[in-house]
Amino acid sequence: MDKHQASVKEALRFRAPALWLKRAGGFVLDQLYPPTCLYCDTPIVDANALCASCWCGLRPITRPMCPVLGLPFAVSLGPEARSAAAIADPPPFDRARSAFIYNDLARAIVSRLKYGDKPELSRFCALTMTTACAEILDGDPVLVPVPLHRFRQWQRRYNQSTELCRALVQLRGLDVAPLLVRRTRRTRQQVGLSAAQRQRNVAGAFEVRAEALSAIAGRRVVIVDDVITTGATVRALTLALKRAGIEQIDVISFARVVIGADMPI
Ligand SMILES: [Zn+2]
Repeated sequence: MDKHQASVKEALRFRAPALWLKRAGGFVLDQLYPPTCLYCDTPIVDANALCASCWCGLRPITRPMCPVLGLPFAVSLGPEARSAAAIADPPPFDRARSAFIYNDLARAIVSRLKYGDKPELSRFCALTMTTACAEILDGDPVLVPVPLHRFRQWQRRYNQSTELCRALVQLRGLDVAPLLVRRTRRTRQQVGLSAAQRQRNVAGAFEVRAEALSAIAGRRVVIVDDVITTGATVRALTLALKRAGIEQIDVISFARVVIGADMPI
């Protein structure tokens, strides 16, 4: 046995009981604090998941869908068929994909994610996004969270988009550029605003930091948000990135509003 093999064996000898202890510790903890549903606290078998009933309350966005906006179609119109929304008002980004339709349950989950009372929710949301948005996350893009204005970030102490990026980095080993963009002015909360008002509210609200650009030169960027409502925020952010010279920009989110699908906003 050479020196290297001996050191590996030595390391394994010390790791084995540690692993055993960890498993035993996990078992004991599960007995003391059984894992519960991330949303409703019903006891479940595996930690960091939803119970069957909550899971059934989510509506995944699946094909057929608009190849640009990622909006679901009731019937397949062919792989190149775009939604009326994408034709009427083409977005500045290339593609958008979201894991779920924004219904009551998705809204409740996003609200908890936003206020950070359950950090493990960001990992759950990110995990669902790795599957639903796989075609966008493939190919080693750089993730960019939608930044909050520094005052709002200070108020909340938490940027849900950054937390989603952090979890996506852990799950997929991707690069993230958390400081690439800053929000230069405080915008009104978008809730309750019309599409046109939302667009005016966020126009020109983002600024790309020139010093952070060189690190991602030539790379494709993926904007990460919790919810896409009218798309005004991600459109404004895309335009700021384009002005800075970034050419390929996609968007992903945990949930998105689909008009006529479920609920008013
Ligand atoms: Zn539940």
